[in-house]
Amino acid sequence: MHASDRGPNSAEGHGEPLRAVWGRIQRELRGAIRREQFETWFRRTTLTAVTEGTAVIAVHNRFTRDWLRNYYMDVLVPCVAKVLGSAHEIRFDIDPESTAPELCPPLPPDPDSVGEDEDGTRSAAQAPAPPAALPLSNANVLPGRLLESSDVVLNPHYRFDNFVVGPCNRFAHAASVGVSESPGLTYNPLFLHGSVGLGKTHLLQSLCHSVFEREPGARILYLSCETFVNHFISALENGDLEKFRHKYRNVDILVVDDIHILANKERTQEEFFHTFNTLYNAGKQIVLSSDSPPVDIPTLQERLVSRFKWGLVTEVEPPCYETRMAILKRKSRERGREIPDDVARVLAEHIDSNIRELEGAVTKVLGFASLSGQPITTQLVRQCLREHFAARPHQPSIEDIQRAVTERFGVKLSDLQSKKRTNAIAYPRQIGMFLARKITRMSLEEIGGYFGGRDHTTVLYACQKLERLSKEDPSCHELLTSLSYEIRGTQA
Ligand code: ADP
Ligand code: MG
Repeated sequence: MHASDRGPNSAEGHGEPLRAVWGRIQRELRGAIRREQFETWFRRTTLTAVTEGTAVIAVHNRFTRDWLRNYYMDVLVPCVAKVLGSAHEIRFDIDPESTAPELCPPLPPDPDSVGEDEDGTRSAAQAPAPPAALPLSNANVLPGRLLESSDVVLNPHYRFDNFVVGPCNRFAHAASVGVSESPGLTYNPLFLHGSVGLGKTHLLQSLCHSVFEREPGARILYLSCETFVNHFISALENGDLEKFRHKYRNVDILVVDDIHILANKERTQEEFFHTFNTLYNAGKQIVLSSDSPPVDIPTLQERLVSRFKWGLVTEVEPPCYETRMAILKRKSRERGREIPDDVARVLAEHIDSNIRELEGAVTKVLGFASLSGQPITTQLVRQCLREHFAARPHQPSIEDIQRAVTERFGVKLSDLQSKKRTNAIAYPRQIGMFLARKITRMSLEEIGGYFGGRDHTTVLYACQKLERLSKEDPSCHELLTSLSYEIRGTQA
């Protein structure tokens, strides 16, 4: 029977139906905690009696009762007191019938019941339903600050606002924003991977800033994986594993940067596995970054690989040209002097795989210009980043290759791209494809596209044929060597 059906049952001294009283308490609660927390923990509970200084609240299971007792008394007690007019002791009744069934939130799994397949693995599809998010407990926490055992202080510039979004990082950015808005509920774990200098740490720290903006008392532990490993080793040596575990498992959000450091560290992997399980089962958020996807981390236990895939694994890719331009513009503006477009173009063309290097180049160019009192020109850039330009000669393009081939054989580009199959045309075309494969980083399909829209098997055939010929026929070998030399040489 639902509490409100109990007719005459009313709050002591109020003459008001319990349902209405509970409605008012719910409104107080809603003002005191986040919406998700309210929906998860208080939407379904009801007030079933108020007698002699005690308010009885019905909950639908033991887990909810324990949860409310452990984490919500400091909100519940004052809200009840405010509505009832005086302090009341709270008693919980496990009474599924009295609770509101139509608004049943997904039930958190029993913390002890997350099983494994026999081999200790479970695929992403078999991941347990994520438990409801924990209320972010804020005892003994300095507002807006990472937990003391963290090994970094958040960089004030690493914020979502300062992050330039492009096709290379759009998804990683959106996922990080999503997680910061409802930790434990959106993607758990969030696993960002990508090579160095592409913004993983920037995103991780932005996520923390953003959580603190909503919830200054959130308990966030932020560590490099190396620190986790070191703490674990010294805990083993000093025999205080219990303390270690307490510290790592008593958080709302655990962020571990560069988790690939777990490679080849079997004991630490084992410990991390248990930390992961404890936090995950309690609905706490885990955020990880790595230089490679879980499956490519050497010797990472299969059960960790599968857990890392339970939430969302997403790559931060190297920025495309347009994103590099936007980053250059943004970074120079942040430093108080925007670099002209032609200068940005030269930088974006030469520094193409690492945002940290792009940033370093901006700093250097602006510094050089201001110290020497010169305007920011492409010439100045070449001068102050000389080593950069010398170290990275321009890659020959497929057009350079086609030009060399047409000149050497006296054929036209349109011939190379035509359907003609006479040997006089087909042979230079095959040489062009072979050299493109050797010299550029293009795929077979892409190369085929430059030679009249041919299919990748045609390109593969040409490459294999010339590989063989160059071994069997010295004149062919010589031809290919001299063409390669010419193409690379003209580009130095
Ligand atoms: P990672 O952790 O992937 O090695 P970082 O997060 O340390 O890379 O990024 C390197 C530098 O590049 C940082 O100073 C960061 O602010 C900057 N950066 C990376 N990506 C972006 C971006 N999309 N927009 C603005 N700055 C970026
Ligand atoms: Mg990093």
